[in-house]
Amino acid sequence: MSVLAEFEALYGVEPEGIWAAPGRVNLIGEYTDFNDGFVMPLALPHTAVAAVARRTDGVLRVHSADVEGGVVQLDVDALEPLASTDWAAYPAGVVWALREAGHPVTGADIHLASTVPTGAGLSSSAALEVVTALALNDLFGLGLSRPGLAVLAQRAENAFVGVPCGVMDQMASACAAEGHALFLDTRDLSYRQVPFDLAARGLRLLVVDTRVKHALGDGAYAERRAGCEAGARALGVRALREVPHAHLPDALGRLSDESIRRYVRHVVSDNHRVERTIALLDAGDPRSVGPVLTEGHASLRDDLRVSCRELDLAVEAANAAGALGARMTGGGFGGSAIVLVEERAADAVATAVGKAFAEAGFTTPRIFPAVPSEGARRLRNGHEMHGKSP
Ligand code: ADP
Ligand code: MG
Repeated sequence: MSVLAEFEALYGVEPEGIWAAPGRVNLIGEYTDFNDGFVMPLALPHTAVAAVARRTDGVLRVHSADVEGGVVQLDVDALEPLASTDWAAYPAGVVWALREAGHPVTGADIHLASTVPTGAGLSSSAALEVVTALALNDLFGLGLSRPGLAVLAQRAENAFVGVPCGVMDQMASACAAEGHALFLDTRDLSYRQVPFDLAARGLRLLVVDTRVKHALGDGAYAERRAGCEAGARALGVRALREVPHAHLPDALGRLSDESIRRYVRHVVSDNHRVERTIALLDAGDPRSVGPVLTEGHASLRDDLRVSCRELDLAVEAANAAGALGARMTGGGFGGSAIVLVEERAADAVATAVGKAFAEAGFTTPRIFPAVPSEGARRLRNGHEMHGKSP
């Protein structure tokens, strides 16, 4: 059933509009966002779609086509942070964050359906949050900017669901542009669209979803984050982004804890890799980004130690089969890798990765192209609802 028809079947009224917000992959700049650093995500063609209608009675009803169970009904006045990590906490958290910020959201009926794979490091959670935030912003006339929506969505995930994520995922989903990567400075949320039209250059960026998620990841993120903060304190800076790459040897010499040294080396060098990537893309040399990706992977594997056998194998097998470069993307410990490859070699590289996984006895990976796509948008207005549906 279409999102429109399902909304009507669930709630007995027409939605006032339909919105979409994409998942993302991060091209380069990993574990840098909580260090006030640089990131460079791009939006995927995969989106979370929401059909939404306002309510005025303080009732919030949410439903997802993608999970078992019916409509979840909540009272907007009684929304409590950290009460649940169930999927409904993501859209409910957005309503909570909007109301906390003083916005008069008086209730809504929401039906969601998403093509963003969940738990694959592709930010299905941010897609869900951002589509909800954009819909409510439009319907309640809140006038929030795209970065404003992203920050609220992040707050929903941090403070309401209880996941300590940075702001990259929500910014990518809210602000990305088709054919571009989003260069984002997470300190002030300034950003620039950097041309990354792969097809026009005969290139492809493959996503290799390893379809594994090692439990180790949960505590490891918090541990890396704490380690980076300790490193910044030891170096007398507010955040590691303030350590220039040229000063890295000196900074490392001033740190005694081996783990913290490695974390600092990763963050400072990955920040620099973002700058190098932008310079290459601006110079019209996207192929040279490949080795920068592979270097970033080595840093995540050896210094930050957030990779895993599946991700390492994806990178090794892709590079051995002729890819321009590859790295894990997202939080690691499973999830996805990205592979930059000549278009004409893409199938052979994908086949080689699949074969390497089969030989290692790993789960068959899902491999698909990451086409740099548009950020969150309104698909249809209420008065256009009749007739065809998306
Ligand atoms: P990622 O964002 O990398 O996909 P997360 O663990 O951050 O992984 O978010 C996944 C969670 O987001 C799911 O467990 C679920 O609670 C929620 N979610 C994502 N997509 C949907 C959906 N289509 N319907 C319901 N919940 C979803
Ligand atoms: Mg997420």
